[in-house]
Parts: sequence; structure tokens; C-alpha cells
Amino acid sequence: MRSIARTPTVAIVGRPNVGKSTLFNRLVGRRQSIVHDQPGVTRDRVFGETELDGGRSLHLLDTGGLLRAEEDALGLNSQVWMAIEESDLLLFVVDAKVGLTVGDEEVAGELRKANVPMLLVINKIDVARASDHALEFHVLGVEPQVRLSAEHGSGFQDLHDRMGEMLPAVRPPVPVEGESRIAIVGRPNVGKSSILNRLLGEERVLVSPVAGTTRDPIDTSVDVDGRHYRLVDTAGIRRRSRTSGTPEALAIMMAKRQLERADVALLVVEAPAGVTAGDLAIAGAAWDMGRAVVVLINKWDLLDPDSGLELERSWERLEMLLSSPQRVNVSAATNRGIGKIFPAVDRTLRGYRSEISTGDLNRIVEEALRRHHAPTEQGRAWKVYYATQVSSGPPTFLLFANRVLPRSASYRRYLENTLSRTLALEGVPIRLVIKRRDRRSPPKRR
Ligand code: GDP
Repeated sequence: MRSIARTPTVAIVGRPNVGKSTLFNRLVGRRQSIVHDQPGVTRDRVFGETELDGGRSLHLLDTGGLLRAEEDALGLNSQVWMAIEESDLLLFVVDAKVGLTVGDEEVAGELRKANVPMLLVINKIDVARASDHALEFHVLGVEPQVRLSAEHGSGFQDLHDRMGEMLPAVRPPVPVEGESRIAIVGRPNVGKSSILNRLLGEERVLVSPVAGTTRDPIDTSVDVDGRHYRLVDTAGIRRRSRTSGTPEALAIMMAKRQLERADVALLVVEAPAGVTAGDLAIAGAAWDMGRAVVVLINKWDLLDPDSGLELERSWERLEMLLSSPQRVNVSAATNRGIGKIFPAVDRTLRGYRSEISTGDLNRIVEEALRRHHAPTEQGRAWKVYYATQVSSGPPTFLLFANRVLPRSASYRRYLENTLSRTLALEGVPIRLVIKRRDRRSPPKRR
């Protein structure tokens, strides 16, 4: 069975009006609205995440969202092709209400060239005479086939089963002792590939490629002053930089795929453009996934006084979102600041992997509670009995309290911020787990 070292990607393709986005919404379901609950991030209609029975997750792309109205005769353009080439499975959707069209035959012919496994989804099976029409699609020669109604939600068990059979298995990452994994992420054209080349070209950097296959990410292993790093999916960064016009929605998905396999993200932002909603979306994804972030402000050579002011104004939101991350102003064009990147990664990773003694942690928490009074509920104050760090990378703290605090509680934010600041966890997401406990007694030791 095929296997890949990341979550598989499924693209929904086909002519306009066959029901691609209805299928997308049905597959992504309600989860979608929770995924993007981040400041500055709008809900994405192109890209989603879902799970098959048994908990296997997958990335899902509605290629219909990558088209402009005038160019959708077959539902294919250069952006859709990029998405197809990055996918592990295509759901080729056809319309049983209309029956087979010349367009479907053309799409089938084109898709075959991509050499990506295909599943034919015969949609709108609920309408009258649909079953008769459904037989016409055998001409396309695409197997296997699934009949369903995206609108009414029937036939989805079959679809899930087939997808499960056709998707490659996921190999868990094998962490190498002492190796830090770095993802270079950012919107299209911000200079990721150029920065990658500069980093690999540094004199004190020793480079060795890591083998992979076409659909598997190909990494590059580097040694800098005796420390080991793995730059993830370097082949993909270069490939996508050569293709002009990568859609931003696709770039966000690519970033998530890279982040899956990384400890720390180098988030590349364009100085003259300032921090954009797309940058915040990628930063938010990294943060939610528990990855540390270093921000590179690239194209510093192109900054003028006006765009400089705008950059600093827009920077504030990113700075807040990422708990004051390490920021390096760079120019891949002039080599400015490139030498400061690995040191910034090291500082950030120290925080990401830091372990704090139980005594110190409890002192910080007690002090935080003293300085700002905890919320009360029916006259009873919120109390912490005991705090302890349960893991690092990212640092995760367990607090035993007289009751749990909701995720949204601002006091939770206050505690996280206090810990972040006191422990100098710059660009490092922390996790607070709050458990209820009745009395003031430390957990039993085994
Ligand atoms: P990617 O899509 O993020 O990998 O971006 P690329 O590395 O392909 O760069 C996009 C474009 O920006 C190319 O034309 C680069 O030559 C240019 N570029 C990258 N970094 C800089 C920089 O620091 N200054 C200037 N002036 N141009 C840059």
C-alpha cells in the first residue's frame, strides 16, 4: 500500500454546477466553522479539513473556488492544475440530472494526464431518472464510482469507504534525536524560495538532501555549527515558487501540510505589503497546531518610509497573536539579516522545549493570582491548588483548580500571557490544561 509522511489531500473537480461545493460543504460539515475561529481569518470556502470513519484526517479542496466566472467551462485552469498536482486523490464529480456531457469526457481526458488516483462521484442521484443517466458515465472509464446526493446527504457511507481504500496510508514522522524541523511558510511570492536558497548557501551551513518520492515531501537536512536541522518540503517550496499565480487559499493549505511535520515555522512576510490577512491566517494555523514561530520580514530593500510606517502598524496584530515572536528583518536580494535566522530559531526553540520546575511554576501562578483577582462564580473565587508542567514542545501546563475555566475565559488569556512573559516564551504557543480537584492536595506520586 502507498504511504506518505503527511495528511493526504483530496481535490474535488468537475464541470460547473455539478455540485462540487455542496459536496465540499457536506464533507467538511460543521467542523469548518470551528477551525477558523481566529482573529483576522475569514472562513475559507476553498479549503477544509475532515475525517473519515476511524479518525483518519484529510485536507479537502474545492477547486470550483479557484475559478473566475468566465473561465469555468471545464472547471480547469492553471490554479486548479496546481491543486490537482498537489493532491493524493481526485473526486471527479458529474451530474446525473443532466447525464453525460461532452464536457465530462473532456475533463476525464484532461484529468487522466495528471496521474492522480480518481474516484467518479455521480451526484444528484435523488432526482427523477437519475439512475438511468448514471449508467451513461461508464463511458468515461473512471473506476471506482460512487452514486450520491450531496444535497440530501445520501450515499456518503459508500464515498467514505471508497476514499478510505484509495487514500495512501500515513507514516508517522520519525523524529531524529537532536534534529529540529523547520518549515518555511508564507503567502505566495513573499520570497520563501529565495530565502531557502540563501540559507542553504550560507558558508557555515552543510547541506544534504533527504530522499523522498514525487508525492512525498522532500526535505533538506542541514548542519549549522554542529546543530542539526531539517528544512521540511524544500522541493515543494521551490516547485511552487516556479509556478506563477499560486492562489492564496492553496498556499495556506501547503503551509499547514508543512507545519504538520515541523517544530518551528519561519513565517515569511513581505515588508512593503505589511502584515496581511493571509499572513495572519498562516500564523494562526501555526499557533493552533502548537508550533513555535519566527517571523522573517523579507524584501526589506524595497521598504520606503510610507510602507515602513504601515508595516509597523500592521505588525502589532501579528506580534500579539504570536506572543512577541523573534522578528528578523531580511532581504533575500541583498543577504541582509540572513545570518541572524538560525540564531533566532535556536532562541525560539529553547523556549519551545523549556522545562520549568514545579516550584517556580507555582510561584508564578500564585503571583499572577495575587496581582489580578480571579473570576468568581456565585460568590466563590476561582482557586488554583497546584500547577505542574506535563510536557514541552510546546510547553503544556496542568493546573488543578476548584473549577475549570472555559476556553474563552479572559482570565485564561491573562494566565497564558503572564506565563509567556515571565518565562520569555517568545513566539511559543503554550497550552494550559485546567482540571477540577476538590481539595488542596498534590497529585499522588506513583
Ligand atoms: P515564494 O513564492 O515565496 O517562494 O517567493 P520567491 O522566492 O519565488 O520570490 C518571489 C519574487 O520575489 C522573486 O521574483 C524574487 O526574486 C523576489 N524576491 C524575493 N526576496 C526578495 C527580496 O528580499 N528583495 C527583493 N527586492 N525581491 C525579492
